[in-house]
Amino acid sequence: MLNRTRIESVADMVEFRKNGVRQPARVALVPTMGALHEGHLALVKAAYGIAQHVVVSIFVNPMQFGPQEDYSRYPRVVDHDIALLSSFPHTVVFTPSAEDMYPEGPSWTVISVPGMTGTLCGLKRPGHFDGVCTVVAKLFNIVRPDFALFGQKDGQQLAVVRRMAEDLNFPVEIVGVPTVREPSGLALSSRNRYLEPHERVQAASLYRALSAGRERFGKGERSRQQITQAVFDVLRAAGIEAEYVALVDSRTLEPLEQVGRQPAMLALAAQIGAARLIDNVILTP
Ligand code: AMP
Repeated sequence: MLNRTRIESVADMVEFRKNGVRQPARVALVPTMGALHEGHLALVKAAYGIAQHVVVSIFVNPMQFGPQEDYSRYPRVVDHDIALLSSFPHTVVFTPSAEDMYPEGPSWTVISVPGMTGTLCGLKRPGHFDGVCTVVAKLFNIVRPDFALFGQKDGQQLAVVRRMAEDLNFPVEIVGVPTVREPSGLALSSRNRYLEPHERVQAASLYRALSAGRERFGKGERSRQQITQAVFDVLRAAGIEAEYVALVDSRTLEPLEQVGRQPAMLALAAQIGAARLIDNVILTP
């Protein structure tokens, strides 16, 4: 491995991959947008469980933000991120610039998974998953990882990236990692820093609501209507109007009227103050 931990250009990353990794060492990629927290670190930890080299990319990808979204104010704290990763001494931190990733402006080639992105967050964020798939495909080609790790917290993203990698035969194994939460249940997110203290308390109700749905499921309930009703009840009591509460097949994201034999994802999104938050739980029959 090269004697450095930060790689700032695409060309240097390609070079590292060519000459810095000796076969049969395995490489895992953890793609992030930075402002790292314990959720991201769980991905890094899991990566070390399966690979000898771990590349953490930090790139706030302009292609996945809508015109009214928080691209310009998204937290950029690379020094803090690198310090957080110092407990993993051999991590390669890849921090390309937007100009390097998109030298001629937004990518002319766009990868979409239309069958899975016209639902859940895709409804409110048209083009978002095209931006995600395109940058992830680019990162796969630049880093050529054996494994790529994604959080279950972004359940739609995980399912969409899995499908893309499968459909396009990327030689990479997609690994999902369980959601890391605060003691209150609130899923860790870089966007939580937009929350005022009272909003943070309110935001903890998102997971309480999902847990109520899961509890109903645990007692034998299988119908979407009943399970989501349990979620809506908690949200209403907390004064939260959700953008969506949905029950879908966790692999295909097809809407479900009933939980069947396959794992289902109970997912929601809500705007709380300045933060649009998402969360989900998996219901396994
Ligand atoms: P982001 O920097 O928000 O793009 O997230 C980078 C990766 O970290 C994605 O695969 C996310 O799903 C994952 N991630 C973010 N928050 C959490 C969390 N609380 N628990 C587990 N994974 C997370």
